Amino acid sequence: MALPLAPALPRHRAPSAVTVSAAAIAANTALLREHCRTPLMAVVKADGFGLGAEAVARAALAGGASELGVATCDEALALRTAGISAPILVWMLHAGAPLGEAIRDDITLSCASVRMLELVVAAAEEAGIRARVELEVETGMHRSGCAVADWGALCAAARKAEHDGHVQVVGVWTHFGGTDDDPAVFAEPLARLESAWSAAHGAGLRPRRRHAASSLAAVVSPAARLDLVRVGAALFGIEPVPSRGLGLATAARWETTVVQVRDVAAGEAVGYGQQYRTARAGRLALLPVGYADGVPRSAWPGVTVSVNGLRHPLVGAVSMDQCVVDVGGSDVEVGDRVVLVGDAGLGEPSLREWSLILGTIPQEVLTGLGSRVARVVGQEAEA
Ligand SMILES: *Cc1c(COP(=O)(O)O)cnc(C)c1O
Repeated sequence: MALPLAPALPRHRAPSAVTVSAAAIAANTALLREHCRTPLMAVVKADGFGLGAEAVARAALAGGASELGVATCDEALALRTAGISAPILVWMLHAGAPLGEAIRDDITLSCASVRMLELVVAAAEEAGIRARVELEVETGMHRSGCAVADWGALCAAARKAEHDGHVQVVGVWTHFGGTDDDPAVFAEPLARLESAWSAAHGAGLRPRRRHAASSLAAVVSPAARLDLVRVGAALFGIEPVPSRGLGLATAARWETTVVQVRDVAAGEAVGYGQQYRTARAGRLALLPVGYADGVPRSAWPGVTVSVNGLRHPLVGAVSMDQCVVDVGGSDVEVGDRVVLVGDAGLGEPSLREWSLILGTIPQEVLTGLGSRVARVVGQEAEA
């Protein structure tokens, strides 16, 4: 019997597993801290970009992040329940959000409108606790944030709420829409943030800090780093400027095993709709992952995966729970290891490679991993 080419994939109940390298996340955090020389907030929204918020948060804090950022109150409360006591900022408030619980759990709430501030004030009043608040100003992306025209009213309302003992405004911030790596694109939004900062002081508020940069601006624009950088994607090894990489480590490896192989003649159809036919006689390998797991239907044609270290194409329409790889004349057997997403440096398909084929960004590939994919924190993390 031939020796296996690679160590057997650890057995999981789940048909596929993503291994999250806590060491890589900690190393990336440390590298970014060193590069920016500014306090770093680790953004662990959407369950840590799909990898598990608690594990990602712990790794980033170990690597030198001083605080955490998430979109929703529930995400923040889950981190507290997990025993994480680091400062947390939440920036997506909505009616019905558990604001009182968040205030009691010492979570900072960002307000982008008088309406949002009123919700926080009501919750603080009911909890009998002064809520820690930041104010977000909109500086050109026209997504979240308070319009410059409404900023004066928001500051005045916040000042009154401070006076009444319901909130304390500790920060002013914005978010950039620019995706160009030319730092000049951030100049105009930064100038607007500076005016908003001055106006907040003029209104009698005493915020301690202002911040703006997420991964891209943090890396390319020293002027945008201000008092804090809010980093998400780069923690996972997603290079903000791929052509000038910082040397970030790959934090996620998604693997499965071959569950069935089949020898086929030339001209055989594969998958729903018989849209693919084998060009020559060869072997097909079945993988137990489909579009519900994060292999979108648009992965074919285009995506190739690594089977026993060699690249082979996905073929035929991807199903909900399974997909097929044409391994041609390769000697692939049931149980062989398949790397769906790994390290480009090792010749494996990377998040970036998938994203280019799918016409999206690496973040969407990561957050597209489904609930059937096991999340396993890599063993080197325990060393
Ligand atoms: C997602 C997010 C970030 C992090 O962005 P990356 O590009 O992933 O670094 C920072 N700030 C806010 C408000 C965000 O929503």
